[in-house]
Amino acid sequence: MSDTLFRLLDMIEPCDLVIYHGSIKSHHGLWLALPCQCLNCAVADEFGLPLTRFALADPWGELAGPHHVRRASITRSVACL
Ligand SMILES: [Zn+2]
Repeated sequence: MSDTLFRLLDMIEPCDLVIYHGSIKSHHGLWLALPCQCLNCAVADEFGLPLTRFALADPWGELAGPHHVRRASITRSVACL
């Protein structure tokens, strides 16, 4: 597998299912990844910086998830493949 293809597969697109394994242990598990909408990220977006933070949403719409989550804290779920 080429490096380019590997990087493509590693990308997280909005609404991908992801596993959260970051610092908030009570939120570990399966989430929908959405672009973070906080003020810091809105400013970064205005400057044209690439999306690096995510807001996590409960796939069943019942729980509010963590936001401003680092890319390193989530892994794309194999359920997407
Ligand atoms: Zn943010």
